[in-house]
Amino acid sequence: MPEGQFKEGIAGGRLAPSQYDDNFADLHPPLDHHEALVESDRCYFCYDAPCMHACPTEIDIPLFIRQISTGNPIGSAKTIFDQNILGGMCARVCPTETLCEEACVREEAEGKPVQIGRLQRYATDTAMTAGKQFYERAAPTGRKIAVVGAGPAGLAAAHRLARYGHDVTIFEAKEKAGGLNEYGIAAYKSTDDFAQAEVDYVTAIGGITIEHGRALGRDIHLADLAAAYDAVFLGMGLGGVNALRAEGEDAGGVDNAVEFIAELRQAEDLASLPVGRKVVVVGGGMTAIDAAVQSKLLGAEEVTIVYRRGKEHMNASEFEQDLAASKGVTIRHWLQPRRVVSQSGKVAGIELEYTEMQDGRLVGLGQTVTVPADQVFKAIGQTFVGDHLNGSGASIAMRDGRIEVDAEGRTSNAKVWAGGDCVADAREDLTVAAVAAGRDAAESIHRALRGAGG
Ligand SMILES: Cc1cc2nc3c(=O)[nH]c(=O)nc-3n(C[C@H](O)[C@H](O)[C@H](O)COP(=O)(O)OP(=O)(O)OC[C@H]3O[C@@H](n4cnc5c(N)ncnc54)[C@H](O)[C@@H]3O)c2cc1C
Ligand code: SF4
Repeated sequence: MPEGQFKEGIAGGRLAPSQYDDNFADLHPPLDHHEALVESDRCYFCYDAPCMHACPTEIDIPLFIRQISTGNPIGSAKTIFDQNILGGMCARVCPTETLCEEACVREEAEGKPVQIGRLQRYATDTAMTAGKQFYERAAPTGRKIAVVGAGPAGLAAAHRLARYGHDVTIFEAKEKAGGLNEYGIAAYKSTDDFAQAEVDYVTAIGGITIEHGRALGRDIHLADLAAAYDAVFLGMGLGGVNALRAEGEDAGGVDNAVEFIAELRQAEDLASLPVGRKVVVVGGGMTAIDAAVQSKLLGAEEVTIVYRRGKEHMNASEFEQDLAASKGVTIRHWLQPRRVVSQSGKVAGIELEYTEMQDGRLVGLGQTVTVPADQVFKAIGQTFVGDHLNGSGASIAMRDGRIEVDAEGRTSNAKVWAGGDCVADAREDLTVAAVAAGRDAAESIHRALRGAGG
């Protein structure tokens, strides 16, 4: 064990330099040509395939697998991109174990599904590496559409609108496009700067301009966009995080897990990234798992996830939970935060209360346990920050703290659509669901503009 590992408090450089590359290598290494052929041969090419219905973007999975098995990976990539232009990222980050692969008949029959995600990656990587573009823009329509946010929802909407010949301007608050693909997804799921390669691939169609450092509510206002453009699509994701609601949570060393991951994703040198020796992550979703696993991979000695309900209630899939366990993360259930214990303003531990379900309600039992920690991450859900929408003169109806949309993705303002994590009925907060929402809203915008003579 390198000397650095014993550094007290929150510090960087806990590992030998070479260990960082090993730890953050690709989680699912790509299939080679032979492996892809063998795996594609396992598919039964089912009629009315259940895997396809389980995919939020409804990719024709049996067809793209058949194309791989007949030696046509480029054609296979087109089948994927027709439905999901971010099929490359989705192949890397989709929790396939709860989507297409869970529905695969071979999972049902023998507990070993066709590796749909890895085959999708094989096909899309082949096409992207070859620089193969499949779509040309239709003749310009003269229509202008503003998209707010260059995350998966915004990019998918922009690409579909550009295909129809509309001119798209994306207003993006951050320096880089990609949304959580660039700033949130775990580093070992998206290696080699894939998020930016994908942004370049998507925008190569033309007709899409991204204006960086332009935030809705600060630099631009919804009423002005609605007046200046033929339609507006909002794909701003979730900008806030829930509070722990535990006494003393503003102690030093109590950090937001999403910000920690964003810093990690942007770090040029992982050894420079400070991490605690004893890390506690509060939460039960993918963000909690990602923050915990990456803390461990950065050299934290003890990493514990604490979750207020049982294993079966966690939003993180069983695969994700197993991944955390395999990296040495301990997951403790039925514990909720009560107090952050601090010394000289810095976190020294977290006091947790045991919980249980009583008459369908989660209740605290009064007994507590204190887990020592020099760093605590909050990963208890993100929230939509809607301040930049209303008060700008173009009021948008909200529901459950997010934007309310109809079945077409249209908001209460007839010129404004929304999709992805920021809407109330987001199927799930997943990359693939955001892509589906952006694509479908773009279709709706196109229909509306055509109906209006566009
Ligand atoms: C830590 C973490 C890990 C995750 N891991 C996975 C995973 O492994 N697999 C998976 O499927 N899903 C994962 N998710 C969920 C997934 O990343 C999201 O569901 C998806 O990115 C949502 O896409 P979106 O386009 O709606 O929003 P985002 O990706 O959040 O993009 C929103 C964009 O809008 C911009 N923006 C925000 N406000 C403004 C404004 N006022 N003006 C202009 N621009 C603005 C943001 O900068 C951003 O670029 C993860 C989420 C988190 C937080
Ligand atoms: S369910 Fe499985 S076997 Fe059937 S088409 Fe889909 S991937 Fe192939």
